[in-house]
Amino acid sequence: MNRREEVLAELGLGPIWRLRTPPVGEQKAVAEAGAVEPPDDTVTTEQSVTAGGEDITESGVPDSAEAVPVSDMGWSELRRATAACTACELHRRRKQAVLGVGDEQADWLIIGEGPGAEEDSRGEPFVGPAGKLLDNMLRSVGLARGENVYIANVVKCRPPGNRTPSPEEAQTCAPFLDRQIELLEPRLIVALGKAAAHRLLGTDGTLASMRSSVHEYRGIPLIVTYHPAYLLRNMPDKSKAWEDLCLAVETMSALAPEEGHSA
Ligand code: URA
Repeated sequence: MNRREEVLAELGLGPIWRLRTPPVGEQKAVAEAGAVEPPDDTVTTEQSVTAGGEDITESGVPDSAEAVPVSDMGWSELRRATAACTACELHRRRKQAVLGVGDEQADWLIIGEGPGAEEDSRGEPFVGPAGKLLDNMLRSVGLARGENVYIANVVKCRPPGNRTPSPEEAQTCAPFLDRQIELLEPRLIVALGKAAAHRLLGTDGTLASMRSSVHEYRGIPLIVTYHPAYLLRNMPDKSKAWEDLCLAVETMSALAPEEGHSA
């Protein structure tokens, strides 16, 4: 086995790396997960806007849902507020808002961009092809979705055509992600891709310039790596993602043990 094959095997991704044309039925799913450019944006789910017509407050939550500010919300209020949010245009085409998934006591917080088509349908982040890769990446370093790991996104509603959320959309949604981070108190954050890194680090650097360093978000160590949807299209960078995950594991291991958190 050469080095490249070893890395792929570590990530548990052997077959995915073979560039084959997926069967017709799979092509749409792959496209919608951002692995390839979808042909057009034909989503027509003009779902009822739960809080349609209401005034939106600064925090992005409809007036009626905001008995408490987002910054004071618990998980269930946050879930309700996210589901009712109409603060940006993304709410118009969503089937549902996707807040996050996993262990609410997790040490690890993984942050992607925004839900894709499958996530929008199922209400859970990273359940499409990019999610399968993410699960394999996590498994390769001994982690698993839901077990000391929480997964969230910068924006909670699907950007049409799975485009990258704009910085304005990311900012509008920021109170929700920030409150999740406050409630979770993770020990380490992994930002997947530029949109997550830019939102959390407040920079607009290239991904290459942000990798390989331990950053901080509000005092929490933060590692930047490639987004799995990008990795599905750019095989050579998978070994770099592996290095980033190893850096994340080393960083976590070097943190002092904390009461109430598992190692
Ligand atoms: N891509 C993301 O950034 N997040 C998801 O939940 C799915 C795909």
